[in-house]
Amino acid sequence: MALYVRHPSCFQHDTGGHPESARRLVAIEESLAERDWMGLEVVDAIAAEREQLLRVHEAALVDRIEDLSARGGGMIDLDTIASAGSWEAALHAAGAAAGAADRLLSAGDGGYAFCGTRPPGHHAERARAMGFCLFNNAAVAAAEARARHGTERVLILDWDVHHGNGTEEIFYGSSDVVYASIHQSPLYPGTGAATDLGTGEGEGFTVNLPVPPGSGPDEFLALVQGVIAPICREWKPGLMIVSAGYDAHRDDPLAECELDETAYADMTAAMRDLGSELGAPLLVLLEGGYSVTALARSVLATLDALAGDASPREAPGAFAAPFRERLVPFWPSLA
Ligand SMILES: [Zn+2]
Repeated sequence: MALYVRHPSCFQHDTGGHPESARRLVAIEESLAERDWMGLEVVDAIAAEREQLLRVHEAALVDRIEDLSARGGGMIDLDTIASAGSWEAALHAAGAAAGAADRLLSAGDGGYAFCGTRPPGHHAERARAMGFCLFNNAAVAAAEARARHGTERVLILDWDVHHGNGTEEIFYGSSDVVYASIHQSPLYPGTGAATDLGTGEGEGFTVNLPVPPGSGPDEFLALVQGVIAPICREWKPGLMIVSAGYDAHRDDPLAECELDETAYADMTAAMRDLGSELGAPLLVLLEGGYSVTALARSVLATLDALAGDASPREAPGAFAAPFRERLVPFWPSLA
C-alpha cells in the first residue's frame, strides 16, 4: 500500500504573508503532478471526528479553533493564525493522519502513506495551538491506532528542525508512544533538552536528540541509525510515524541546519527498511519546511526513497555515542 493523502481544504488555511502558506502544498503537488504522482494512490482525506481530536486535545481548544474560524479568523499567538478556512483545513489535516493510520493498519501488510497536508501539528499541545500548528496530527494518528486497532506501541520520529513540544507534552507520561525528536538547539520553541526523558511510566519514552546549528546529514543520519533504529528493534512498534518537517534543509530560511535532499532520502530509507524488518507500516506527515523549492525536492526525495529499495549510506557513528550512553538505562540495546 502506497498512499498520498491530500485535501483541497488544506489550501484554504490562509495565513497571509506567513512562511507557512499554501504555496508550500502548491509546490509539492506541482512537482508530483509532473511525475504523474509517482504511481501513488492519491486519497482525499476525510475530516477528523471530534471524538478523534478529544483523545489528545482539550475540548476548549477544539471549540476555540472552531469559533475563531467561524468568526473569520484571527491571531492565536504571534506566530499562529486561523482564517475562515482553517477549521476545515485542521480537521482534514488531522483526519488525513488518522485515516491513513487506519488504512495502513487495516491492510496489515506494512506499506506507507505520506500526508501532504497543512496546518502542521507537532507544536500543538493538549490545550494550546501554537507555532503554526492547530491540532497535533501525529498525536491524533497515534491515538487512533491505539483506540481503533489496539496498537500498543507507536513510535513517532520527528525530524523537523524544531522540537515538537506538543507531541512531547501529549505523550510525556505515556509508555504507549516513543516520541523521538532530532532538532536544532537553541531554536524555537526552546524545549527538547536531552535530559527531558518523560515522566512516571513514560520515563525513557521521550527521546530528545538536540543538535547544534550547522548540523548536517552526518549528524541527523547518525542519530536515526545509531539511536532511533536500535530503539525500534528493541521495542518493535506496530506503527511508525514520521513528523517530517523539511526545515533542517540548508536552504530553509528559519533555521541553520545543513541537510539536503539526499539526507532526507537516507533517513527515509532507514525508516523504510526498519518498517519492513519489523512489519510495521510507516506514516509520514508533513510538518515544516519553508523554502518551497527545497521542500518540494525533499518531499519527492522522501517519496522516491519510500518506493525504492536502495540502502541508505552508513553515517559515522561517533556523533550518536553520547546520546546512546544517556539512554542506556531505558534502552539496554544502546549499550
Ligand atoms: Zn519546524
